[in-house]
Amino acid sequence: MSSSRLSAVRGLLPVTDEGIDAVLVTDKININYVSGFTGSTAMLFITADEAQLLTDFRYTAQARIQCPDFEIVDISQPDSLGQFIESKPSVKRVGFESLDVTVGRLEGWRKHSERIDWVPVAGAITSLRMFKDADEVALIRHAITIAEDSFKLVSTLLGPGTTEEEFALELEFAMRRAGASAASFDIIVASGGNGAFPHHRAGQRAFQLGDLVTIDWGAKYEGYCSDITRTVVIGQSITDQQREIYDIVKKAKELATEAIKPGKTGKEIDAVARDFIASEGYGEYFGHSLGHSLGLDVHDGATLSVRADKVILQPGIVTTVEPGIYIEGFGGVRIEEDVLVTDDGYEILTSPSPDLTTRV
Ligand code: ZN
Ligand code: ZN
Repeated sequence: MSSSRLSAVRGLLPVTDEGIDAVLVTDKININYVSGFTGSTAMLFITADEAQLLTDFRYTAQARIQCPDFEIVDISQPDSLGQFIESKPSVKRVGFESLDVTVGRLEGWRKHSERIDWVPVAGAITSLRMFKDADEVALIRHAITIAEDSFKLVSTLLGPGTTEEEFALELEFAMRRAGASAASFDIIVASGGNGAFPHHRAGQRAFQLGDLVTIDWGAKYEGYCSDITRTVVIGQSITDQQREIYDIVKKAKELATEAIKPGKTGKEIDAVARDFIASEGYGEYFGHSLGHSLGLDVHDGATLSVRADKVILQPGIVTTVEPGIYIEGFGGVRIEEDVLVTDDGYEILTSPSPDLTTRV
């Protein structure tokens, strides 16, 4: 698997005189994606005909097992990246991940290898991760199953008196017991007026009858993330306004999802949901992107947004679809599904939303 990813990275070395001779991969998730290495300290140095993993004594044995396509190089001294590159006189221009490398780190490299021209490649390697193979999709599906089963298990706590924090904690415990290595991100539980803040942190507020509660959570399994949002009303009675707003968000989500197919841009799909919500009179209350790519990171890049006119949907992309309406003093509604772009359209990976109301 990693050899095809290695070829994809080599595809980033442009062939013109202005091209780069090597790519230095420093982002931990990208290192894992390209090489299979799971340790905390390493860099990948990739040229047209060499692939080397640079690490220190703690990880050399592990890297030899995990990364058969790479030559393992022990660099334990502070300036040894400089020495390593000096040993390659034909390498003159090195691409580096400018969204990952700090200014201080780059200055250090420049000091120790003055003849090298460091060329920022920004998110070029991260964007390779956007296209999932069948194995990756299977892992995301399992991360979704863990998250959904765990939510069902703790949903009896969706009643008056449970605090946001308690619910988040029980949900996280349930996911860990079900095999998740972690929650994909800090679980969001936003009840009542807190629902007006899209990324409210679970706090001390206790659920009350009639509250809208937005829960946004996900599980991490074998490195891959799920990301789901459900909004419920505590108890059995729903106000007309709650029902109206919930139905608008749900319809926006359905319309946008049904528009997903290869060749469409992320901006076009975003517009489907955004225009519908605006036509219902709530345009100013939907202020975030419609969705983001999902994979080894919970935010692999914005796929569906007003700025995503260059993102062309293609089979293998897994994106969230998550419209919302947030009104100060009223609260909020967000519904989020994980969707796979297929050869001729889309497949919704998450299960249908449960009822809007809760049993207790
Ligand atoms: Zn989410
Ligand atoms: Zn999300």
